[in-house]
Amino acid sequence: MSRAAKNWARRKRRELMDLLGNVCAHCGTGENLEFDCIYPQGDGHHRGEASQRMCFYRRQFREGNLQVLCNVCNARKGDDEPALVVTAPLPDNPF
Ligand SMILES: [Zn+2]
Repeated sequence: MSRAAKNWARRKRRELMDLLGNVCAHCGTGENLEFDCIYPQGDGHHRGEASQRMCFYRRQFREGNLQVLCNVCNARKGDDEPALVVTAPLPDNPF
C-alpha cells in the first residue's frame, strides 16, 4: 500500500474516532479502542488494507452502524453474544 494511502487511512481513523468521542461506548475507557459494527457485517473487511478498512468503517458510520469499543469490551461482546462473531457466512437456517 502506498504511503499516501496509509496516511489517509490514519487521518480518517482519527477523524472517525473523534466523531465517536474517543471513548469505549460500553465502559468509557480511552485506551485500546477499536471500531466495531453495531450490527455485525462479517469479518471480510478485517482482511483488507487499512485504507479499504477505513472506507468500510466510514460507510458504516454514515449508516449509523459504527461504535467504538475497547479491546476488552469488544472481546466480551463476542463472549456474550456468539452470534455477533461472524467468521463464516451463516447457514440459511441456523436452527
Ligand atoms: Zn470498554
